[in-house]
Amino acid sequence: MFDWLVVGAGFAGSVLAERIASERNERVLVVDRRDHIGGNAYDHLDAAGVLVHRYGPHIFHTNSEAIFAYLSRFTEWRAYEHRVLAQVRSPATGEAMLVPMPINLDTINRLYGLSLTEDEVEGWLAARAEQVEQVRTSEDVVVGKVGRELYELFFRGYTRKQWALDPSELDKSVTARVPTRTNRDDRYFTDRFQYMPRDGYTAMFRRLLDHPLITVRTGMTFEEARRRFSFRRLVWTGPVDEYFGFRFGKLPYRSLRFGHETLDREWALPTGTVNHPDEATPFTRVSEYKWMTGQEHPKTSVTYEFPSAEGDPYYPIPRPENAALYKRYEALADAERDTWFVGRLATYRYYNMDQVVGQALASFERIEKQVPRGAANDDRILEQVSSGC
Ligand code: FAD
Ligand code: UDP
Repeated sequence: MFDWLVVGAGFAGSVLAERIASERNERVLVVDRRDHIGGNAYDHLDAAGVLVHRYGPHIFHTNSEAIFAYLSRFTEWRAYEHRVLAQVRSPATGEAMLVPMPINLDTINRLYGLSLTEDEVEGWLAARAEQVEQVRTSEDVVVGKVGRELYELFFRGYTRKQWALDPSELDKSVTARVPTRTNRDDRYFTDRFQYMPRDGYTAMFRRLLDHPLITVRTGMTFEEARRRFSFRRLVWTGPVDEYFGFRFGKLPYRSLRFGHETLDREWALPTGTVNHPDEATPFTRVSEYKWMTGQEHPKTSVTYEFPSAEGDPYYPIPRPENAALYKRYEALADAERDTWFVGRLATYRYYNMDQVVGQALASFERIEKQVPRGAANDDRILEQVSSGC
């Protein structure tokens, strides 16, 4: 008998299990159908002993001191600022080059053989930017800032590969994740806190779940858990449409195939990730983990990301018709008794790790308001008393 069943051992499920067990003293069963904890942030040593991320590179960044402080209870950190280069051809000379992404002052000067200053590049971009009446799509965001040539070079092909949609068919929030800079800042993120868990993500999850009131069963589906155990309340972090038996049809998710390789040399790439935005290259990016983890090793491991329609659901696809379909599932979720839907798949939101942690902490606050502490235990005691135990 458990007070709670948590389906999914990623950030959403693990944070809620920890909060419920630590703060409410209630018994939690966490199940995941994969054979490991950590969800998509899972990392492990590969055959060569290099620490790699099974589901592609995960870099922690947040502006929230509260989220950073919460996770800091379960890990030490290693400071790491991610940098990305894009492999493109200069529109001016046709020469292949690696330039900083997000587009910054150096990107433009190198591509066009210019020596513009910060002030000058603003005018240069303004002269190329297209007038967009109302910024709605992922195309509008970029052409409205940098014009069509840079849009086509850096965004169009990458996005068409990643989503199997043209940027004009995707919500503006997708490409708006990547800013345009007129200074020389070449970091991918500018958040206040940018760190990697010192011993890796899986070690952090192990500590999150290490509590006498938490039981973890990997390799177990919701169906199996439901058959074998009883529980009073449920936290669901899997796909919301799956929970409801796809009643209104499938919510579209985009998947990836990961090409993991270990190389018999110390380094492979000039930076943590190299993006390949051209449509002809079948992968979108390649990442080298040692940049992120700081591991010293005579070999190195990289992962190529090949976008795919088939496979695990990794990305909700932000566009109006999908949001409308999700709303119908959300209404069902809101009406479901004693069940909380949390995380990237359960709330169909293109969330980063820190946002999922924030959402899980907020869900816990809601649980605290709605379910009096210890109520589940009291019920159980009452049942035992009345049945003569
Ligand atoms: P998940 O991690 O997906 O966990 C849900 C778990 O539920 C899964 O393990 C699944 O197996 C389990 N599950 C589902 N259904 C069932 C069922 N029926 N029975 C049992 N178990 C079930 N974020 C960042 O902040 N920085 C990054 O650099 C970054 N890089 C990313 C790169 C890639 C390629 C991807 C795909 C995502 C990246 N993210 C990144 C996003 C990050 O992965 C997510 O924000 C986070 O992992 C979501 O956590 P979650 O708990 O909501 O979901
Ligand atoms: N993007 C792009 N070119 C790039 C990098 C990103 O067109 O070089 C677009 C693409 O649509 C991508 C989105 O911006 O899916 C968000 O990029 P991000 O790096 O945040 O993607 P994630 O790490 O979530 O896969």
